[in-house]
Formats: sequence, C-alpha cells, structure tokens
Amino acid sequence: MKPKTRLIHGGIFGDEATGAVSTPIYQVSTYKQEAVGKFKGYEYSRTGNPTRHALEELIADVEFGHAGFAFASGMAAISSVMMLFSAGDHVILTDDVYGGTYRVVNKVLNRFGLEFTFVDTGDLAAVEAAVQENTKAIFIETPTNPLLKVTDIEAVSAFAKSKGLLTIVDNTFMTPYLQNPIPLGADIVLHSATKYIGGHSDVVAGLVVVNTAELAEEMHFVQNSIGAILGPQDSWLLIRGLKTLGIRMEETGTNAQRIAEFLDGHEAVGKVIYPGLPSHGGHELMKKQSAGFGGMISFDVGSREKAGELLAKLKYFTLAESLGAVESLISVPAQMTHASIPAERRAELGIGDGLVRISVGIEDVEDLIEDLSEALS
Ligand SMILES: *Cc1c(COP(=O)(O)O)cnc(C)c1O
Repeated sequence: MKPKTRLIHGGIFGDEATGAVSTPIYQVSTYKQEAVGKFKGYEYSRTGNPTRHALEELIADVEFGHAGFAFASGMAAISSVMMLFSAGDHVILTDDVYGGTYRVVNKVLNRFGLEFTFVDTGDLAAVEAAVQENTKAIFIETPTNPLLKVTDIEAVSAFAKSKGLLTIVDNTFMTPYLQNPIPLGADIVLHSATKYIGGHSDVVAGLVVVNTAELAEEMHFVQNSIGAILGPQDSWLLIRGLKTLGIRMEETGTNAQRIAEFLDGHEAVGKVIYPGLPSHGGHELMKKQSAGFGGMISFDVGSREKAGELLAKLKYFTLAESLGAVESLISVPAQMTHASIPAERRAELGIGDGLVRISVGIEDVEDLIEDLSEALS
C-alpha cells in the first residue's frame, strides 16, 4: 500500500456494525456489561473508546508501529512517554527541542527525580559522550524548531540499541507522511497532532506509537493510569485530518520550496533556514531519511523591530503560535514559542530577536510570495 492510500485505508476503515464509511463518534463514557467483567471490548472510555481506538489503529499503521495511543495534547503525549521512566533514570534530548518539552522536563519532571541532558543530537560523538550509567533513552526532534537542525535517526537509533537505550522521536514537523522513524530503528514516535495531522487549527491533540508489544502494554498502562486521553470528537477530527495529510503535505512542501528560494535571494533577508535548500547542512540527510522537506521556514530579518514591521504588513500570514495548518502562519520564536527558554540559552542556540518562523499553508503560492515581497520591501 502506498502512503496516501494507507492514510485512508489503514487502521479500521469505517464502521462494521452499520457500514458507515466514516468512523462514528462514540460520545460515551461507559459500556453495558452482560455480567460482571463480561463486555464487548470496552468498559470505560479512559481505558478505551471505539473512536479513539480507530484513530490509534490508524496512527500505528501509518507509522509502521505495533500500537498507537491518543492524548489530550502533544505535551500530554510527551509527558506520558516520560512516565515510562522512574526516579533516577536519565534521558538525553536534542538541544533545541520544542520549548514546551524543555519546560516540562526542566521544571516539572526533574522534580520527580528524572535527569536530563541536552546535546546536539546531530553530532553522534556528543550523544555518545552524554551517555551515563543511568541513561535509559535518547529523545530526538528532527528537524528542530525553529532552527531546523537535522538528526540522523538511523545512526542514533543504532547507537541507542547498542547501549540498550530507547530512541524516542518527536515527528511533529515531518508527519508520518514524510518521515517514519520506526522503520529507521526508533522505538517510540510521537506527534503534536495539533499541527499537521489535525491540519486545520481546530484541535489540540497528541499521538504516540510504539514498536513492540511490551512497550504497548507499558504505554497503555500509563495512558490509563494518568488519564490524559483524547476525547471521541477530537479523535474523529484527527482521523479526518489524516485522510488528507498526504495531499496537504505535498502542497505545503511545494509552496515552502518556492518561498524558501524566493527569500534566499532577497536583500532584506539574512539567513534562510529550510532543509530543501542545498545550502542547508541537513539537506542530504533529509533526502535519505524523509520523503520531503516539510513546510517550516525560518529566516532572519535582523532585529525585533524589523520583524515587527514585517508582521504588521503581511496579509495572508497570520501571526499566531502553532504551525502545520492549511492557512499560513508566522511567529517570532524569541518572543512566542521559545519565550519559556531563558534569553542566554536562546542566544547560545542562535534564536535571535530577528528570527521569524513561517508555517507555509496550502494557499496559492503566488499570493504568498506577493504578500512577502510587498511586506519586505
Ligand atoms: C506543538 C509541539 C509540541 C507540543 O504539542 P501541543 O499539542 O501543543 O501540546 C511538541 N513538539 C513539537 C515539535 C511541537 O511543535
């Protein structure tokens, strides 16, 4: 089965009981038992719900994993994955990881005795050097947000395996359509489904896929115990989003490539960061491990003031947090998504005040380029 077909025909197609082509929304909390403990697979909706289950089967299928799990947000998914570990365990993370991930590990999970080290996971020697006796996993995000640094998933996974560590990949930016970490050797893949998978700026959700029955059992235990589950209505929205993910990612990628090339030649723009540009350090690696370069572009306009001017003039790029929707969005990471990272740390990472990040939507690219051109002049 090819990728676009799998997004539509993977998992559980429609509803067996009625023939409905779209999975019904089972808006229900509990299920009738014929006798104590005798029920038709569902007993209580925190533990399992048919609509959520259909989504979980689908995401497992399109990520080539053993089982999927749906959560109330990307952060709920990430936090629940971290609950697989115990006090005293150590996890290595990509250094310019999503701001919310940085916050939850450094301000919440550290209070429960988990230890974390941030390294440039694009540098395998740095990853090797960070391994301690109590290390249990390597958590990578590739490409990163907003600097779009690339990590070799296959190389890190092989190294992790040799040390008995789990490899966890935040695959939000690439989506299961463009990048599948599990066949590359990863153990756990997660998504903020709020972004491309939902795709329409109308749902907050998270997804996790694991590659073994053992991890599936542990993950389900955590999901049911912590209870940060996704509701049936939002599960349905994600099933709907996944059906068009392929064509949306194709269009987004084509638009982003054209826009990156336009920005790259523009005199008012400094550095342009897009993995689809041959000048990008991760370009060749992305060609190897991904089926495209995605829709995120970061570029430098020099200062906070210049960024402000650009934002004020744009018509089609909505100033907003988040990414991955049909409409183009723009943000200033230093003041928005990455505001929770201390200023010194941001400077260290290269997230300057004039760095602007766009999430390219699926509008006509001519309109988007004209808009940017007018706003930059
Ligand atoms: C948005 C995002 C998250 C967090 O997801 P929420 O759905 O906002 O909780 C995690 N990782 C990445 C890469 C993201 O972009």
